[in-house]
Amino acid sequence: MMQESKESKLYFSKELLGWYETAKRDLPWRRHRNPYYIWVSEIMLQQTRVDTVIPYFQRFIERFPTIQALAEAPEEDVLKCWEGLGYYSRARNLQAAAQQVMERHGGIVPDNKKDVSALKGVGPYTSGAILSIAYNQPEPAVDGNVMRVLSRYFLIEEDIMKTGTRTLMEDLATELIPLGRAGDFNQALMELGALICTPKSPQCLICPVMVHCAGRLEGAEDRLPVKSKAKPPRPEYRLVALVEGDGEQSGRVLVRRRPDSGLLARMWELPHIPAAAEPGEGAGLPDGPAMDRLAAVLGGAGVLAAPQGALMEAEHTFSHIHWNMRVFRFQQVDGRGGERTAVAESASAYEANGDVAGPNTGHDSVEYRWITKEDMGELAFPNVFIRILNQYFSMK
Ligand code: SF4
Repeated sequence: MMQESKESKLYFSKELLGWYETAKRDLPWRRHRNPYYIWVSEIMLQQTRVDTVIPYFQRFIERFPTIQALAEAPEEDVLKCWEGLGYYSRARNLQAAAQQVMERHGGIVPDNKKDVSALKGVGPYTSGAILSIAYNQPEPAVDGNVMRVLSRYFLIEEDIMKTGTRTLMEDLATELIPLGRAGDFNQALMELGALICTPKSPQCLICPVMVHCAGRLEGAEDRLPVKSKAKPPRPEYRLVALVEGDGEQSGRVLVRRRPDSGLLARMWELPHIPAAAEPGEGAGLPDGPAMDRLAAVLGGAGVLAAPQGALMEAEHTFSHIHWNMRVFRFQQVDGRGGERTAVAESASAYEANGDVAGPNTGHDSVEYRWITKEDMGELAFPNVFIRILNQYFSMK
């Protein structure tokens, strides 16, 4: 059942805006109506909590104060600034879109739906957020938080994972926007979802719209929104080599750069391969054969290393894959060569190692480097390798 009388809609919009005026949080991107700041904050806030985003946002804006600065920065710097936030394609898309804004719009974030939606990485939610918050245009900005609030208030029992339900929510959210108040209203909706109408234990008793909330009146707030379960991430077992340098490389460990495309493109990591080269192998592969396989891969890359045993376990979940990693310590046997080593390992060799990222499309060779703990400050690593390396260096 869905209660959406004109009276309850008017009440909702009015009470929500009134509440927002007094309850809104002082967030760095709310201090200006700079479309670039709003855009960056909205991209960072996808899948990430506000408290986590604040220091990242401040560092990012300090380092790339304008769209032009972002568009012209080396990608490595952008990834380094994003390190730890995860979902790195967001950072790459943001930079690509900044370049589009420079080329197509003279460095100014467009103020119409067609052009904003054409920017890389900008979906319906982000375009709605930019247009409403920065330009006060009556566009809806509907994400999971907003769908939760609307599902509960209007007692909408449709599955929010369905496209049709999203369209229904966008129509409803557009209808609710009070004349001339799009930016504040959309932010108020987001704020209510973040502070009061939270996923678990919504605080109905202090909610500004509780009087007409159909979900609450029906006692249905805890079971709404209806959301079908997403497919769980596929488990993958990976063998990781932490190679300690010898001779000139003493005190350093070996890292490599990922291919130009695919998962975690161009980020740095410890060399690793899937545990399962044959059907039926995988999680249960004994340490001996696992280390032999890693040693062979390292040898193929020109690094002679003797296995020293298992060091630690680690895991990391991406949206579609869950990595279970067993890390093995190796000792380099013949420590020659400079600190920076472009190993003549071909793209096809990387692929033959079975890496999930697939073939290296941009380099003739996979780049390896010997690094110290201090060097980690310059290179962008995915979180799981930061954790492994920090733990390793702290044990030294
Ligand atoms: S009354 Fe409760 S369920 Fe309804 S909008 Fe407010 S917090 Fe959400």
